[in-house]
Order: sequence, then C-alpha cells, then structure tokens
Amino acid sequence: MATNFDSLTAAQLAAGVASGAWSAVEVARAALDAIQARETEVQAFLQITPELAIAAAERVDAARAAGEPLPPLAGVPVAIKDNMNLTGTRTTCASRMLENYESPYTATCVQRMLDAGCVPVGKANMDEFAFGSSTDSSAFHPTNNPWDTSRVPGGSSGGSAAAVAAGMVPLSLGSDTGGSIRQPAALCGVVGMKPTYGAVSRYGVVAFGSSLDQVGPFGRTVEDVALAMDALVAGGRDAYDSTSQEVAPSFTQAARASAEGLAGTRIGLVPAFMDAEGLTPEVRAGVMHAAAALEAAGAELVEVDLPHVDAAIAAYYVIGPAEAFSNLARFDGIRYGYQEPGCTTLAAQSALSRAHGFGAEAKRRQMLGAYLLSSGVYDTYYYAAQKARTLITDDYNAAFAQVDAILMPATPHAAFQHGEISDPTQMYLSDMYTISLNIAGNGGISVPVGLGEDSGLPMAAQLVAPAFADERLITFAAAIERACASASNASVLGVAPAFAGKGGELA
Ligand code: GLN
Repeated sequence: MATNFDSLTAAQLAAGVASGAWSAVEVARAALDAIQARETEVQAFLQITPELAIAAAERVDAARAAGEPLPPLAGVPVAIKDNMNLTGTRTTCASRMLENYESPYTATCVQRMLDAGCVPVGKANMDEFAFGSSTDSSAFHPTNNPWDTSRVPGGSSGGSAAAVAAGMVPLSLGSDTGGSIRQPAALCGVVGMKPTYGAVSRYGVVAFGSSLDQVGPFGRTVEDVALAMDALVAGGRDAYDSTSQEVAPSFTQAARASAEGLAGTRIGLVPAFMDAEGLTPEVRAGVMHAAAALEAAGAELVEVDLPHVDAAIAAYYVIGPAEAFSNLARFDGIRYGYQEPGCTTLAAQSALSRAHGFGAEAKRRQMLGAYLLSSGVYDTYYYAAQKARTLITDDYNAAFAQVDAILMPATPHAAFQHGEISDPTQMYLSDMYTISLNIAGNGGISVPVGLGEDSGLPMAAQLVAPAFADERLITFAAAIERACASASNASVLGVAPAFAGKGGELA
C-alpha cells in the first residue's frame, strides 16, 4: 500500500527512514509533489529547492547504506522562512529590496536543522522584512490559509505555518519578533514555538528588532516541535551570536515524559486577558478548554496579574521600529539591495533605491523609527518604552514566583479575510497576546485546541514559561494536545481539511 507521507509526523518520517521502511529520497519526492499539488492554492513558498532537497536526501540514504548512525531528523523535509540564509538560495525577506540577494552563507539555525538530517525543500513566504501579521505585505504574493484560502495564514511567518498546515512539510522554521511564529501557528492550526530570547542563534537571520527577534519551529505535533528545538540548540551556544546561550537539548524528553501527569504544577490565568475587549468568545472557549485539560491532568489553576502588560504594544511599537530603522539602514542600493538604475550620485542612489525597494509597511516602520530616535523625541518615547520593558519583565518574574507557566490566548480572533484589516493599528492589535513575551524575552508556544464553534477555523492556546524554562512549554503543550486531539484531529495530526483526501496517495 502506498504511504501517505503528508499525514506522517517528522518523528514517524525519521523513524521510517532509519528503519529502511522508506528512503529519504522517497520522502523528499513526496514533499515536493505535495508542494506542487497545493502551491497554486496556498502559495506558501517564494522559492522551491528540489535540487537541494534531493541532494540532502541522497546524503541521508548514502549514510544509512554505509551503516553510519543517522541524526534524529534524518530525511525530514523542512521549509525555511525567507529571512534566513541558506547557501544555494536567495534570501529575499519577501522584499523587492533583496529580490536577487543570494545567501552568502547558511544561518546557524538552518545549519543545525541540516546537521540533524533535515532536507530543505524551499524558502517560505513572509511579510516584508517580517513586518506584519498577515503575510499580505510580501512584495511577491500573499499566502492563503489552507483551511480557507480566502483568509490569511497570519504572519509574519505565514508561509512557514501554511506549508505545515497544508501537509507540504512536517516542519518549518519561522522567526518571532512580536508574535510571528505563535500568531500564524494559531491561525493555521499547527504548533509554533518562540523559545526564550538567546536560546536559538540569530546568526544569518536578517535582523528586524535585534533585542526581540527569536527563531523557532512549526510542526503539526508538540513532539515534532520538541525534536526541532533539540536540533536548534544542539551544539550549544553560537560564537557568532553574542546573545546566544547554552540550552540543554531536553525538549524531546519533555514531550515524551509529559504523559506522567501534571500533579503539583500550577498554571496561571490572567483575568484581564480572558476578559479583554476584542477577544472573541470562541477563542476564549478554546483557551478555557485547554485550561480544563491541564486541570484534568493534575495542574492547579491560579489567577495571576501582569499589571503593566497593557503597555507592551506601545513599548513594542517604539523599540521595534527603532531597532528596525537602524537594522534596515544597510539596504541602500550601495552596500546591499535593489539598485535604482541611472542614479548619478550616491545620495540619489540611496534615496531612490530605498523609495522603490521597500513596500509601504517597511517604510512606515523605518520612518517611525527615525522619528523616535531623533533628538528631543528619543527621551520621551524610547526611554519610556525601555522603562515599560523593565516593568513588564518584572511582572512576568513576579507571576512566575507563583506559577510554573501561564495560559493565555495566542490571538484574539480566528484567521481573517485577505484585506479585512486595512488599518495598520488594527493589524498591530492582532498581536496583543504575543508581543509582551518578546518585550520580556521569555518563551511561548501556541498549541491547537480544536475548531472554533462560530468560525469552524482553528483555535489555539498560548503557554508562557519563565526565561530558559522552555522545556515546560513542551510538557504542558503536550498535555493540551493529548486532551484536544480528538476535537482537532485534522489540525493536530493530519493535514488541513481543504487538502485531506486530495492528492492523497503520494508514494
Ligand atoms: N506583527 C508584529 C509586527 O508587525 C510582529 C512581527 C514579527 O514577529 N516579526 O511587528
């Protein structure tokens, strides 16, 4: 009987490669076929890399044939967000500015996935330079949510989330500066994790907000995300990223040990979050369903307060644009990026290349950043934002003196229609539950909890843990997944319904 590779998890695919049930090349071909069959509808990719994929898969098969020990994710297809360098691909950040930029080297996070045996099938679409929550701001094309192609997959890592939700790949990498892994994971019904700032190297990832950016994985199961996390932290701290830290590769173990129950653990709920304006009843119900699952597994639910967290969005839209403004200054058509033809002075070259190379949101962020860092303005906003950052971090630390993890929504609402949110400030609010973690630096995971009773679309809960206690996210998310798997079977273990049964027999 032909194997339905697109419904298998990364763990199952790697086990089958290791046992010889199938070859890595067969798995890679199946992923490339699934991409070909669904890409017209989903548009998750900016570049598909069959040569790189087949070559990597052949290396895995050759290693097995030679009797070499296989790494944990040997033969598992992976999609890479297009702000991460991978030799042999362009790294465009979904911007005209970098349309023809060839990766000069491979980012540490990507290299670690390759070292774990992963097979790179392509570069995933995103909001331009990771500014956004819909992937509609990609300069090349939008990505469609596989559950309903009239809707967005979320952003900015929308291509990475959609590729996993559509059964094209079991794993992908995204980056999260204010929610860009957790929000699209929630909207696409997959698991997405932002580790603690510093847990994963940022070397080779195009910077947006250097004090906020963090790389993390998407998968259809918590175990797969745990396997990817172990791959990302294996090898220890990266000497090329001064903020990277040594993290023990204990994630897979946490996923597998989690069935032992949660007796003695305490989970915080933030009343102000659960009663917030803008939170839809179906998302609230999904989060409460997850809370009940944790309680049934033995955890105690405790109310906690994060008194300054309301300031997080404001602080983020000062710190983020300020850092983006300085990070994106290098894209001037001289040192990097699109070169406006016919310019006779360097000043004109820079001004016109930037005017025509960047899209509207990228310009808005940089203009805001330039203003916020200008003399006279800096003290009023940037200092205030940094003070708010300290208060929010202290709030989380105080809450974690009482609880092991905090449960909250990942997004206020289900996936929205393309074009439905045109006001940038309304778009910014779709990250109301994710941004405070980037401000404080600790990790969070978005885990599917089933389909919404009103929309029929994926719902999610977000778990938050203290800094560098990210393996707890895996433990608690696995408990939620077990309890919710029956309600959201398609989102947790299979492929999105739009594709279930389509192009099924791939092998
Ligand atoms: N949506 C947020 C923004 O536009 C977060 C983006 C991200 O995490 N990269 O800034």
